[in-house]
Amino acid sequence: MIETIGILGGGQLGRMLTLEAKRMGYRVVTLEPLPNSPCGQVADEQIVAAYDDARAIGELGARSDVVTYEFENIPLESIRLLQSQSRNVRPSGDVLRVTQDRILEKTFVRDAGCATAAFEAVTSADEMQNAVASLSFPAVMKTSRGGYDGKGQWVVRDAGDAEVALGEARGAPCIYERFVPFEREVSIICARGSDGKSIAFPITENVHDHGVLDTTIVPARLDSALAERVRANAALLGERLQIVGAYCVEFFILGDDVLVNEIAPRVHNSGHYSLDATQISQYEAHVRAICDLPLVQPRLLAPAVMMNILGTGEGDVLEGSAELLREPELKLHLYGKRHAALRRKMGHFTVLGSSVAEALAKASEGRSLLSWRPSTAVAGRPMMQIGASQPSPSA
Ligand code: AMP
Repeated sequence: MIETIGILGGGQLGRMLTLEAKRMGYRVVTLEPLPNSPCGQVADEQIVAAYDDARAIGELGARSDVVTYEFENIPLESIRLLQSQSRNVRPSGDVLRVTQDRILEKTFVRDAGCATAAFEAVTSADEMQNAVASLSFPAVMKTSRGGYDGKGQWVVRDAGDAEVALGEARGAPCIYERFVPFEREVSIICARGSDGKSIAFPITENVHDHGVLDTTIVPARLDSALAERVRANAALLGERLQIVGAYCVEFFILGDDVLVNEIAPRVHNSGHYSLDATQISQYEAHVRAICDLPLVQPRLLAPAVMMNILGTGEGDVLEGSAELLREPELKLHLYGKRHAALRRKMGHFTVLGSSVAEALAKASEGRSLLSWRPSTAVAGRPMMQIGASQPSPSA
């Protein structure tokens, strides 16, 4: 019987996963290097340790009936260690091995019969030359491992950019990808149980800024034939990877092309909306999948828009949230992080509308109400100053 869920990673995804798991009656232990993490603040216990600390990883396994993770840059050896100790890790290390390495991941996707942007692996100056010769410009170069939120990525427009990217990558294996002038970026969250049954959330349309998710619109404005191909690709990839848990597949849509960009074997930022706009959230779906509970098909309650609240580096106090909360169809989520560094994910809100256009208009208006100010410049009542926390590596 599963009573305690262990989560590797202490960011906001772990926090929302924990809140849903606790509602469902589970205990939660998280392991995260920085104390008082967004997840640690709401979990029953936080083990403060590095992700490669074998003793601490063993401790997490010993205290949990099932272990999961909220981001993919966990050392594979830590997952392998847990598995060697007969701990139940979901999704498995085999899933993580493929998805934490862009070269392996894109090759896997292509071998499964799904389309991707044309790419070449680049690990040396010679390979870079070959990649440029075959794919030309513009392109995007990305480190194969460890990147997230646009980190470890370079847009390569000419030979000069290629040289800079190669130099800054400092010998790290990279993927050189043809730039896709996509019409839309979409993603889909699915969840798959150990019995192979799976469910899919509505397809969302995502807008990024500097590689960081900015806005999610649901349902995506996508024609039904393309939507069907998105669903089929995502189901196929989950099946081939034998994922147990929630996962997200991101796509570029260009004309008739449906190109897989990335697979995240975990709950995902583009699924935050599901806490408020579907009758079951991605977090609950993940808990159900990893705890062998029945999966049910998510149902959209109304068109919705989710906007991330990102730090600007101008201050740590969020102003305007009281005005934002005047909108009755809006839910505000803040993650308990103290420092609102530039583009740091501090929170999000989701707003429902009678149409996508209405939800978008309300969301844009909501965002215009929010700003950050330094905590020293006290002007009236401090707004939503939130608990102490440290940066966490959540997506
Ligand atoms: P990723 O880390 O691969 O999800 O990339 C972050 C964001 O960069 C994506 O969501 C896109 O907006 C953009 N991006 C990544 N790869 C490409 C590409 N090959 N062509 C155009 N834009 C890209």
